[in-house]
Amino acid sequence: MQEIKIIDNEKKKEVKLPENLVFGKTFTEHIFEMDFDRNKGGWQTPTIKRYENLNIDPAAMVFHYGQAIFEGMKAYKQVDGKIALFRPEKNIERLNRSARRLCIPEVEPELALKAIKELVKIDAEWIPEKPGHSLYIRPFIFATEPCFGVRAADSYKFIIILSPVGPYYPQGFKPVPIMATDKYVRAVRKGTGEAKAAGNYAAGLIAQEEAKKEGYSQILWLDAIEQKYIEEVGAMNIFIRFKDEVATPALSGSILPGITRMSVIELLKDWGYNINERLIAIEELFNAADKGELLEIFGSGTAAVISSVSKLKYHDREIKFSETEPGELAFKLYDELTGLQYGKIEDRFGWIT
Ligand code: PMP
Repeated sequence: MQEIKIIDNEKKKEVKLPENLVFGKTFTEHIFEMDFDRNKGGWQTPTIKRYENLNIDPAAMVFHYGQAIFEGMKAYKQVDGKIALFRPEKNIERLNRSARRLCIPEVEPELALKAIKELVKIDAEWIPEKPGHSLYIRPFIFATEPCFGVRAADSYKFIIILSPVGPYYPQGFKPVPIMATDKYVRAVRKGTGEAKAAGNYAAGLIAQEEAKKEGYSQILWLDAIEQKYIEEVGAMNIFIRFKDEVATPALSGSILPGITRMSVIELLKDWGYNINERLIAIEELFNAADKGELLEIFGSGTAAVISSVSKLKYHDREIKFSETEPGELAFKLYDELTGLQYGKIEDRFGWIT
């Protein structure tokens, strides 16, 4: 593995965390950067240096053909003062799967993990210590070669930046209203939906904006072919608790395989729940709700961990849950996952690095 070159890591800026941390608006003092050049034999010197603007050619292929992927994970200050990462190797595996799908060169997993650890250590003073706070870690790779040819680029940048973040729900764990749509689709099977590609998020914005106007905070995406089966909700995977079963959509090729999703499934299995990954038709939710057999709906993702749903709208129908109280299982999972992340409960699965 290559040594990481550290340039100018002396702290010069006073660590000033705003009282109310708005998600992803505050950045730390250092950045990890590594360039790829096919003509120089691949990835060049991995470097940690001071955070500053990039100098990029306007013809860089990322601006024109969108070869860009990213990851999202967090570092937590645990109750004993140690710094913890939650299943970081899974994020790195996903980064490399996204890379393969977009013809971006993969990174050496051990080097990527070392880069994350080193950067977090150097900027450790930026990890907020208040309850529910953490340091969001954003690794990303994009094409830098200046060229208008439509093909995979010959040069790339792999960057990692850090952002101290507050709790997703500053007023406490509050259920959110969501809206399903058949007006747009997020991703198609065999497309890029299961990759964490920047373009997927651009494609979803219009539906998100329209939902906001109607008073819903997230879009529940349906499959692109039949517009019949639920897939995921905003930047979260989705779970449905029926009377005798917990179900989540099976990974079909158009769903992002969430690390939180994977952890929720493993936890539920461990707790003895009947948890299934399968096709779930939106109609099934309305039918179960009519029969009183739909107990709760919740999303899972790094940012919010678990997000309980207060109501689900589709066309002119609506399923309603409590607007103030999160679902029972959602709350239990939130408690368990954040307990593990902040070191309040024993890491019996070996998820903490
Ligand atoms: N789906 C999408 C589209 C996402 O952007 C995310 C956030 N990464 C998730 C699901 C949840 O994934 P994770 O649990 O790994 O954060």
